[in-house]
Amino acid sequence: MAFNRPAPALPEPLSPLVDSHTHLDACGATDAASVATIVDRAESVGVGRVVTVADDIEAARFAVQAAHWDSRVYAAVALHPTRANALDDAAKAEVERLVADERVVAVGETGLDYFWPGKLEGCATIEEQKSAFTWHIELAKNMNKPLMIHNRDANSDVLTILRSEGPPNSVIFHCFSGDAAMAKECVDLGFYLSFSGTVSFRNAKDLHEAARLVPDDLILVETDAPYLTPHPFRGAPNESYCLPYTASALAELRGADPRDLSVIVTKNSEKVFNLH
Ligand SMILES: [Zn+2]
Ligand SMILES: [Zn+2]
Repeated sequence: MAFNRPAPALPEPLSPLVDSHTHLDACGATDAASVATIVDRAESVGVGRVVTVADDIEAARFAVQAAHWDSRVYAAVALHPTRANALDDAAKAEVERLVADERVVAVGETGLDYFWPGKLEGCATIEEQKSAFTWHIELAKNMNKPLMIHNRDANSDVLTILRSEGPPNSVIFHCFSGDAAMAKECVDLGFYLSFSGTVSFRNAKDLHEAARLVPDDLILVETDAPYLTPHPFRGAPNESYCLPYTASALAELRGADPRDLSVIVTKNSEKVFNLH
């Protein structure tokens, strides 16, 4: 991925924080040393733990390895909705095996992405995505691990499928991008909403409204690095160390002290991912 701006400066430290959704491989990590470098940088500003998320099988193997290399890293494993067409029997068997690993704290990211089909070559169709989403919901239930949802332009179908399948005990909407009505529906169902750098964007008024109405016990923060770099660094590469920018912006929106918010979101991460 090409970035047209230099990496953001280190933020003022904000502790404790857990980056509930990042992609260490896409941030350039390839081995134990490069994983440690990224997490050291995050830890230096208070982001002491990260959940690294897979979007294909290779990334899934890497995420689990990274979580074994470094005790500050946890993994989430699934095939991304846009890769749902790769979920054949062999892939299912491997995802199942990886999700069972003790360092894997969620099944994700899975869900529906209605933005990319027709635009991205090789992207799974909507029907393929629905079938893979249903499969991952069952897996999360069978493994008793939280389900981490990627939802792009598919609010109503995501909720319809979750309702008809019956959601797992814990559901996280990663990079929540809906408006207040969608947030309210998710909150009423007891789902966690995880906010990324997009919540710091000045023009994201609907998202700001959504972020204000989520109760303290259902809110999480994430980078989704290397994407979605928070304001005022849009266009620069994101990394877990940038999370304090997003957490501070979220605290400001909610009229909260950033230090109080950091304690709240960290408790929620520990609970939903069963971190210890
Ligand atoms: Zn996603
Ligand atoms: Zn992601």
